[in-house]
Amino acid sequence: MSEDFLQQDVRYVKGVGEKRADVWAEQHGVRTVHDLLRFYPRRYLDRTTVTPVRRLQEGPDSVTVVGTVRSVNVVPGNNQKRLEIILEGEQGGRMKGTWFQGVWWVRKAFDEGDRLAFHGTVEKYGRWHSMTHPDFDRLNDEGPLLDTGRIVPLYPGGEAMSNVGLTSRTVRRVLYDLFKEHGLKLTETMPDWIMDGYDLMEGRVALRAIHFPKTQQELSRARRRLKFEELFFIQLLLAQMHEQQEEVAGPAFDDPGAYTREFVREVLPFELTGAQTRALREIIGDVQTGTQMNRLLQGDVGSGKTVVAVAAMMHAYDSGYQSAFMAPTEILAEQHHANLQDYLQPLGLEPRLLIGSQTKAEREAALQAVRSGASPVAVGTHALIQDEVAFDRLGLAVVDEQHRFGVAQRAEMFEKGERPHMLLMTATPIPRSLALTLYGDLDVSKIDEMPPGRKPVETRLRAEKRRGEVYAFLNDRLEQGEQAFVVYPLVEESEKMDLKDAESGAQELQEKFPDYTVGLVHGQLSADDKDATMRRFKEGDIDLLVATTVIEVGVDVPNATVMLVEHAERFGLSQLHQLRGRVGRSDQQSYCVLMASYKRSQEAKQRLEAMARTNDGFEISETDLQIRGAGDFFGTRQSGMPDLKIADLTEDDEILEVAREAAFALIEKDPHLRADEHERLRRRYQEDYAEHGLGFARVG
Ligand code: ADP
Ligand code: MG
Repeated sequence: MSEDFLQQDVRYVKGVGEKRADVWAEQHGVRTVHDLLRFYPRRYLDRTTVTPVRRLQEGPDSVTVVGTVRSVNVVPGNNQKRLEIILEGEQGGRMKGTWFQGVWWVRKAFDEGDRLAFHGTVEKYGRWHSMTHPDFDRLNDEGPLLDTGRIVPLYPGGEAMSNVGLTSRTVRRVLYDLFKEHGLKLTETMPDWIMDGYDLMEGRVALRAIHFPKTQQELSRARRRLKFEELFFIQLLLAQMHEQQEEVAGPAFDDPGAYTREFVREVLPFELTGAQTRALREIIGDVQTGTQMNRLLQGDVGSGKTVVAVAAMMHAYDSGYQSAFMAPTEILAEQHHANLQDYLQPLGLEPRLLIGSQTKAEREAALQAVRSGASPVAVGTHALIQDEVAFDRLGLAVVDEQHRFGVAQRAEMFEKGERPHMLLMTATPIPRSLALTLYGDLDVSKIDEMPPGRKPVETRLRAEKRRGEVYAFLNDRLEQGEQAFVVYPLVEESEKMDLKDAESGAQELQEKFPDYTVGLVHGQLSADDKDATMRRFKEGDIDLLVATTVIEVGVDVPNATVMLVEHAERFGLSQLHQLRGRVGRSDQQSYCVLMASYKRSQEAKQRLEAMARTNDGFEISETDLQIRGAGDFFGTRQSGMPDLKIADLTEDDEILEVAREAAFALIEKDPHLRADEHERLRRRYQEDYAEHGLGFARVG
């Protein structure tokens, strides 16, 4: 197969044709022969990977079973219908597959007599072994599988794929013919010394073995090679950027002066923690070198990142520079602005807010103050980086919750002609494997210490039938003069319905707690109304604040000690952790109560259990990554997370490290490859990955 052949449209490949090509492209992005070869199996079945149904045991690890559907039943329940499938194993034994969601869809999808593979964790209910919401593959058109001694690859499928006959069996046939007809004359993309040094299987052999493995051993070598390759090219790009970026000049700040000192010593009513001091020192060190800073400030919710950022902004101002402070949403920008006002007014300084929902006059005034240099800090959303916002002398850009910014937006910051120092703040600790892949070499400061006197929040999981108890508890806290949040989920598609939930929840609470004031804040209120309600809560005029997730990040109400989350099963893990971070901001004991319906998906269960198990943001974040996979963790497109086809950042740290080492070594060592081969590879992989904005740090 030549390079040209690899770029050929998949519709001309034997056994594909127009209709299948369309579906394949749409469902899985398979457009060319190159894509086709990298349409990797999602799972392999053989005697060593399939557990006989009659030998099933309850346990935390996922297993695969193969069997025939004996019945499909919708079972009514107290709260919720469920769908049960009884599956009979190839060598006997019966088990259940159970669905609480998508009941009617699943009912339509399966028939008696279907042959299926289920993949999931096994629980035991009575005498039945059961999997809840198992992942499944349809094996109807497969011959006898497991008695042949073969390793059978199963491909990503779905309804649309099987409608045009693209079952695993067809995919295997297409690939088989392709290899047979065109052979394996693929050029090796790795230089010899990397092949030898890292003991890699040849690329063409690996591509064949990933689809048609003869042994498990061969398969695992093939997987290692292809994972290596995938990560290697990303790291090569990052290495290259890194090289180009070394010399980017940034503003050279002076030593911290009066504003910084006064802010830290006079304005703050507390001492910085050791971790805050360390982070601030690292920042101060960076910004005086004359090279652009790119630093990620990591710290759990409430660990005091913002305070450090404000000190850094004061340092900028001491040196004659302004700062931009960007938040992912308007309400967060507003909250930051309000906080900044509290911090800066004692110093006689005025931060300016720039958001889309301002009146024209407000905006004009703010723009003017920023343009003239009268204001030291502009706070806003990405509106800040739109063209019309001109700074007199921008020296520092602080980006809060950076992972929510699209890469394109981040890139724009660099096109403004100015090269401010960058301080990115995140409460979601990013595992090293992800950070490397997303940012390459970003310097990291960690705030791994909470302000003194904080007590860890106690987290409790409660089912609906214990609501009475929960309200009694809430009443106790209110009687102590403490305040509480009650949060409802807001799902975009049905915003109106959810709003009704929150509204009727607020009404119900007001009836249950007539002696206390209940407030309601949601996304459809005007910025002013939201702000007013938040302020009343902060000032203690409201005891119970019912909210949709608009309060997720940012508001600081130390007297609030209870975070009650309704329909907690609908929230993501990081979101729940953020919500929990709204309480526990004083020396009082705080509580997070997660109300969840008893029937939940496996994933929701894992999330809620993780919340009950730990308060540690780092552990939460690792668990979240494991549950969702890297792609969803940040949202591929939005975050610039490359769409990995085979490497898995939760597992492949070790391969990532060696691929990274090899990539950097290559750049050092092989200028010829860099000029020529590498350029070609770079272009190709840039198309694959960098359209999503691979690693933004110091780009340009
Ligand atoms: P983050 O941005 O990490 O969520 P903030 O900077 O907003 O955290 O700080 C959270 C709360 O903790 C604020 O009320 C802040 O005033 C307080 N705080 C920050 N640093 C300290 C400290 N060193 N000692 C006591 N309280 C602190
Ligand atoms: Mg914060």
